[in-house]
Amino acid sequence: MLRWSFRLFKIRGIQLSVHGSFLILLAYVALEGWQLDGWPGLGWSVALLVVFFTCVVLHELGHSFTARAFGVGVPRILLMPIGGMAEFDRMPRRPREEFLITIAGPAVNFVIATALFLIVGLPRTWSFWTLDDYPATARGFAQLLLHWNIWMGCFNLIPVFPMDGGRIFRALLATMMPYLRATFWAATLGKVLAIAAIGIAILHYQAYLTAVLFSFIFFAGEAEYRAIRRHEIEDAHWREILTRFPAQAGEPPIISAVPPAAENRQPPIIEIHEIE
Ligand SMILES: [Zn+2]
Repeated sequence: MLRWSFRLFKIRGIQLSVHGSFLILLAYVALEGWQLDGWPGLGWSVALLVVFFTCVVLHELGHSFTARAFGVGVPRILLMPIGGMAEFDRMPRRPREEFLITIAGPAVNFVIATALFLIVGLPRTWSFWTLDDYPATARGFAQLLLHWNIWMGCFNLIPVFPMDGGRIFRALLATMMPYLRATFWAATLGKVLAIAAIGIAILHYQAYLTAVLFSFIFFAGEAEYRAIRRHEIEDAHWREILTRFPAQAGEPPIISAVPPAAENRQPPIIEIHEIE
């Protein structure tokens, strides 16, 4: 499904792509703006969408450039209606590296928010539901953007694995216990919080898109835990074979038959940013 995308351009070697479903969001936002205020409304809504997703890309680049500093390849950043996703060719298992790569995304949002605060000051309101609270001026636009970046940074720090907060939680746990068990507990906490979020979103706010988003996160967390568990079992199997049949002197080491380390075959880091 993630293949239904088209390429935009490359940023220092990282391909930026947009998923086909993004066009539906674009059409929806444009129509809503049009119904509100004709052409100016359409222009304002589309501009908000573009600027908002530019911040999502900057967030992903925060992860990506930090990952590269640790030797991790980043082939693509994919934008979807629910947010962005940076694809890594592996995720380092050293807790310190995973922590730094993960925290770099929200850090970008807080840096943007701080820069905007220094230029335009705090918004008059923190209401997120009525855009009318922000004057349709450059200052109002910048304040709305400031608000969004704080929201995006904080939202991603909720410890719902595999969102940023959940990955940071896993990295902290992994300093105290084996990687698989750390992933199990991070995924379990994530699933409990995701179910709670789905319940609150539907029953209290009637926010169905948010419920869909957390359902997606719920299954992504479970899938990632299962993938890591499978790799651990495979690796244990290969280690056993190596112990039983060690390489003889003069022979090429059998280690060349071992598949890439488990950490080289992890699913991509997933970034979720609410846009409802
Ligand atoms: Zn992130």
